[in-house]
This record gives sequence, C-alpha cells and structure tokens, in this order.
Amino acid sequence: MIAGAFPKIKGRILFDEPLSGHTTFRVGGSCRVWTEPSSEGELLEILRYARTEKKKAFIIGKGSNILFRDKGFGGVLIHLAGAHFKKIKFSGEKVRTGAGAALARVVNMACEKGLSGIEGLVGIPGTVGGAIFMNSSYRGSISDSLEEVKVMDRKTGDMRIIKRKEFIFGYRDTGFLHDYVILEATLKLQKQKKTVLLARKKIFLETKKKEQPIGFFSAGCIFKNPKRAFPAARYIDELRLKGKKIGGAQISEKHANFIVNLKDAKGSDILRLMKLVTRRVKMRFGVKLEPEIKIV
Ligand SMILES: Cc1cc2nc3c(=O)[nH]c(=O)nc-3n(C[C@H](O)[C@H](O)[C@H](O)COP(=O)(O)OP(=O)(O)OC[C@H]3O[C@@H](n4cnc5c(N)ncnc54)[C@H](O)[C@@H]3O)c2cc1C
Repeated sequence: MIAGAFPKIKGRILFDEPLSGHTTFRVGGSCRVWTEPSSEGELLEILRYARTEKKKAFIIGKGSNILFRDKGFGGVLIHLAGAHFKKIKFSGEKVRTGAGAALARVVNMACEKGLSGIEGLVGIPGTVGGAIFMNSSYRGSISDSLEEVKVMDRKTGDMRIIKRKEFIFGYRDTGFLHDYVILEATLKLQKQKKTVLLARKKIFLETKKKEQPIGFFSAGCIFKNPKRAFPAARYIDELRLKGKKIGGAQISEKHANFIVNLKDAKGSDILRLMKLVTRRVKMRFGVKLEPEIKIV
C-alpha cells in the first residue's frame, strides 16, 4: 500500500486515523485508511482498491453502534460524508434521503412538514444508512416507513433499487443488505398536524432521556433483547450489575443494557464488561445474550 496507489478522490483520505473521534463510545485504536467518497464513482473506486489490496472495507455512519477494538482496524473505512450522500428531498408524502444524512435531521424536517411515520426515531444518533442497516427502532422501526433503498453491490459495484416487497427485516437484522452499501432511501410518510407531531416527538425524547443515559459516551443498547424472553436489561438488572465498573467503562446506573465510557475507557474494558454480563446471565438464567453493537 498505500498513498501513491490510492485512487484519486476529491473527498478526504486519512491514514492511521484515530477512531475514538469517529464513534459515540469514544474508544478504539486507529484505522489504516479512512475515506470520505464524494460520489458513487469514488465509492466504487475505493471498494475496488480495497479488493485489489485484499483489505477489508467497512462502512461507518456516525459510529453510534460500533465498538472498535484497541488494536484498531487494518482495512479501509468508508464514511459517506460528501454532500451528495446527504441530500434530503421531500415531495408530497415521500422523502428521498441520502444514506449519509443525519437521521435526526430527516426526523425533524418531517415533523416540521407535518409528515408522520418516523417521529418515533427521535433521539437515535446516527445516519439514515446506519439506521436502515441496523433496522433501528424506538417508538416504531425505520423499516415501517421504508419504501425502497438504492444500494451498491460491494463486489461488482452494480447499483440497484430494492423495493419494499423484497425486504426481509428482522429485529436488528438486515441480512438481505449485507452485500451492499446503502446509498439512498425513500420513506413513505403520512400527513399529520405539525403540532401533534412536535408534541409526540417531545414526549418520546423526554421519555428516552429518562430511560437512557443520554449525554454519556455509549453505543446505545449493548445486547439484543433475547427472543421470547425478557429484555436484556432485566437480566442484568436482576444480577445487580448496574454501576459495575471495569477500567473506565461502567454498566450504566440508569439503563442496565447500556455501557458508558466514564473516562478514558479502553475497548478492552467494554469487552470485559460484556463478557462478564454474558457469562453471569447464562449461568444464572440460562439465557445467551448476543451483542447488538458491531464489534470491529
Ligand atoms: C445514546 C444512544 C441512544 C441510542 N438509541 C437507540 C434506539 O433507541 N434505538 C436503536 O435502534 N438504536 C439506538 N442507538 C444505536 C444507534 O444509534 C443506531 O443503531 C444508529 O441507527 C446507527 O447509525 P450510525 O450511522 O451511527 O451507524 P454506525 O454505528 O456507524 O454503523 C452501524 C452498522 O451499520 C452499517 N452501515 C452504516 N451505514 C451504512 C451504509 N450506508 N450502508 C451499509 N451499511 C451501513 C455499518 O457498517 C455498521 O455495521 C443508540 C445509540 C446511542 C449512542
């Protein structure tokens, strides 16, 4: 590798970039190459480059559901930061939005325009692409309103539209999207009074702030809620693990399924806490917790 051989792109390219500034957990080593394509053509060039160099390519949105390990990431990170990927266009009851747009921006704009369907996603940090890939939900899921997604095949670079009838969304499960980079999405919303939507949004956000440690460095819920059982937080709570610390990481005192980075936590502190929780929950309740966050 590297600098000379790298495709010439207008967007930023950074080498050995520390990842703590690119995730809401504020932890992680460095990545070998950080890229910000400004167009689909540039994205394709970067994907090709990673394949030729046999480097792993990983898409990162706002990094609000990712834990990067302390040893860092030896591949190519791709962040759809260019203006092209952040376009938001409303027409009638639909909105077409780039995958790199901030989810909060789309939610706020929809409410201001008197369009309902995604106000329940208020307070979820991250991009539209990240929300779709994670099938994010709070009071409703993003997939409820999703009409179609425009994607690029990671291997061939072919672009195509995936329509609603082809979607196979599960709980935090979007296996049908794993071979693709999400480029753009169309959401179908419904007319509603702006005052109603703003009031709903306010209540949802207030509830979220009461339930979750908003304002702390975290990556949202750490574990998926097990199928046909109690929410993950309940098991952790019953084991009285709230407040448990390892290094700079702590199981949130407010919400047992959040781990917060109190100060200078290492990725390894968080991983050790996760291991401890998984082991104790399995031992006591016979329930296997699976991580919701992506560990890279
Ligand atoms: C305080 C806090 C509260 C949260 N509350 C909630 C909540 O209520 N509900 C909820 O569901 N989540 C919640 N989360 C988790 C997180 O915010 C969501 O999962 C969010 O949608 C992730 O978006 P992101 O852009 O940060 O994705 P990232 O964390 O950057 O990436 C997540 C995954 O999506 C993939 N990805 C991102 N963009 C693309 C793309 N364009 N194409 C293909 N793959 C892509 C990445 O490769 C990665 O696998 C919370 C997180 C925090 C920190």
